[in-house]
Formats: sequence, C-alpha cells, structure tokens
Amino acid sequence: MAQVFRSTRVLTQQGLAPATLLVEGERIVEVRAWNDVPTAAQMRDFGDRVLLPGLVDSHVHINEPGRTEWEGFSTATRAAASGGVTTLVDMPLNCVPETIGVDALQAKRAAAKNQCWVDWAAWGGVVRGNSEALPALAAAGVPGFKCFLIHSGIDGFSWVDEAELRLALDQIRETGLRGAGLPLLAHAEVAGPVNAATGALGAVRADWRKYSTYLASRPDAAEVEAIALLIQLAEEFAAPIHIVHLSSAWALPILAEARRRGAPITVETCVQYLWFAGEEIPDGATEFKCAPPIRGLANRDALWTALDAGLIDMVVTDHSPCPPAMKRQDEGRWDLAWGGIASLGLALPVMWTALARRGVDLNPAVARIAKWMAAAPARLAGLAGKKGVLAEGADADFVVFDPEAAWTVAPEHLHFRHKLSPYIGAELQGRVRETWLRGGQIFAADETKASFVGSPRGRELVRP
Ligand SMILES: [Zn+2]
Repeated sequence: MAQVFRSTRVLTQQGLAPATLLVEGERIVEVRAWNDVPTAAQMRDFGDRVLLPGLVDSHVHINEPGRTEWEGFSTATRAAASGGVTTLVDMPLNCVPETIGVDALQAKRAAAKNQCWVDWAAWGGVVRGNSEALPALAAAGVPGFKCFLIHSGIDGFSWVDEAELRLALDQIRETGLRGAGLPLLAHAEVAGPVNAATGALGAVRADWRKYSTYLASRPDAAEVEAIALLIQLAEEFAAPIHIVHLSSAWALPILAEARRRGAPITVETCVQYLWFAGEEIPDGATEFKCAPPIRGLANRDALWTALDAGLIDMVVTDHSPCPPAMKRQDEGRWDLAWGGIASLGLALPVMWTALARRGVDLNPAVARIAKWMAAAPARLAGLAGKKGVLAEGADADFVVFDPEAAWTVAPEHLHFRHKLSPYIGAELQGRVRETWLRGGQIFAADETKASFVGSPRGRELVRP
C-alpha cells in the first residue's frame, strides 16, 4: 500500500508550505496539496513539525575496517540517523586499509555489511604512486576521489604534490560520465607556510597549551597557496575539483574570481567553522582541534557571507573522532593531540540555531540548510535527484524536525562511539524527532529518550 506523509511545514522545491508526500515503496512518487490525500493509503500526519529532506554528509571519517575502536559503521550511522542524516560519504583514510585500491574498497564493503542505519558511499583515495589504480576504483563505483596536499596525519595515506596531482587528474578525467570526470576532493593546505610558522613558534618556545599557538601554526597562507594551485589545475584539466573544509576567508577572493571565470571549483565549509570562533576556544581544550583550524570571529562572519552569496556551496561535518586518550586532554598540548572533531548528529540543530541567532526566519533557514547540507552534497556525490530533495522520484528520506524545542547537548545525546565533542554544553534550538530512510522509520526521539527503529537497512550507494 502507498504511504502518505504530511505536515503544514514541508520543504519542497517551492519552500516551506503545507504539503503531502505520496510514497510508493522506497520512493516519493508525488508531492501533493496538503488536503489531497488518496483514500487507499496509510497516512501519517506530522502536524506542524517541519519535514525536510534527509541530510547528506559528504565528509565523514567512519574509520572501519581497521580502526573500529575510533568509530565504525554501526556507531557512525546511528549518530547520523539521530541527526536526520540519511546518507554518509566516507573518507578514504583512517580506515585500514586506506581506500586507495579496489581490494580495500571490497574490504570496506564487507565490513559495512548489515551494520548501517543509513545509506553510504565511499570516496576513493589519491596518494603518491596510485594513479594507475584510480580507473578501477571508479569502475567499482566510487563517486570521486580525495587527496591531501599536506601530511594527512596517517602515514598510510601520503600527500601528493603538483606532479602527482597531474598524473592523477590525467587518470580521473577518463572516469566520469560524458567526459566530465569524477570530482577530486582536496585537503587544501600546503606544507611550506605551516612548516615555516611551526619553526618560528619553536624558536620562541611558544606554549603549545595555548590555542593561539596552534592557530598560528596553521596560517591562512597555507590554504590560499593550496587553493591557488587547485584552481589552476581545475582550469587546465577542465576537471571538477572540490575544496574540502575551507576554513580561511583569505581564500575567498581567488575563489570568487575563479568562479567568475567559470572554473569547475566547488567549495565546502564545516559546521565547526560557522559555529565556534578561535577567540572562544580555551587553552588546552583539544576537543576543538581540527585542521585547518577554527579561526577568528571576523573570519567566521566572512564564511557566512560567502555561504549566503553561494560562493561556498555546502556545509559538512568532517566528523573525525578518535579514542579519547589521543586527544591528550591531561596535557592539553595542541601539537600532540589528534586533530579531528566529533559531531555527527548535531549539524541540523546547530545550523538552525546559528541561522536563527543571525536573524534568519525558519522558512528561508530550512531551505538554506537543505540546499547546503542535502542537495549540494548529494550533487557532489553523484546523487542529485535521488538524495537530498523532497521531490518526485527521490528516495523517501526525510527528517521530522521540531524547530521550537530548546535543549543543551549532553553526552547522552551523542550516538557516535566516544562521547567527546566540543559541542557538549551547547544550547541549541530544534530537535530531530524522527528520521525516515527510503519510506521506513529508522529513528524516533522525544524529550526523554531516543530509539532506533527496526534493524539496520542502510545500503551502499554504488555509482552506476
Ligand atoms: Zn576530513
């Protein structure tokens, strides 16, 4: 039997309005008027709760197989479901083996089996010397590739220089449909400015417990220099290149110019760069450590402006947890702590709270969130039209959101493996009440408890 879902606040292509979603099997077959409910259908009426598309997080480190003690498919996808995220795209590093060849991809597929609460896909990796492996990875169904221009923190995932990027782009441009090539995602920091800054800090015996020391060690120039190179290569190869986790607003002018010229460059930033500010980070609080770093208040405002203007295309989490001991909180030294922020499941209320504080009303806010955190990352991962929208033909993935609920983040709200996150204590507005994946409920929460519904039926989204 067909299912019908309705509320007075459904986010369709036309904005937030009363509407009815008609679902047959796993897909939305029609978006109808609120009062246009077919009689032979099972109806759920969500009142005035907001219905928005399941979010797509295209930047997550699941770490399985190989480092399941850091995170894993089960815990990461539960955290996603709890936050209304119905699709994750996994980064090719921190797992062992790293996803830099087809064997490693198969190992990941085996590890994921029967564990996933939401749908997922895996980026392939570009490292030194693996360009010949890229066509086979593409043929095996990865939606694109990720590389680093600086040490990744993982010795098994080497960074690439310009010569190696050229070899990789030569291979990648043959991989996409209609000659477009799959996207190459790049961690855009280069080592030169970071090494120079770190050396200078060593010379004056800077205090590595201070956040200002860490911030000074990852200067804006490292991002700007990397992004300039990536723009040049994107234009030369006519290859889609995607800048992951942009932190520095200093890079916005060259990105704006590149976009004006029509360069095939897309840009993401992360929730943590839009929510926190360097001035507010306590010394020794290494749960805030990520690279590139969270910068100052003025930088944060500039990122918001670029996001509003469409220069930054999307917002992701870069959820990258580790065992708590690796954050070295006893010493609080930023140079010794593992870099990576754990946050999966919190992005929707954090972004809604941030927009509300910036004076944006619910209607445009929810539409922007869905554009930045569902439609745009779905497009990057080759899932446009299937994921990230409430429209005819799309998978029936949606979130039931209560935008009025106020709450304070506590460890019991976190469903990823290690309950360590800089968001603990954050006062947020908006709660995910239910999450639905392909027409079936997977998560429910009220004021007192959260539960996962049924059994894990997430699947891998293999690029055809
Ligand atoms: Zn990452």
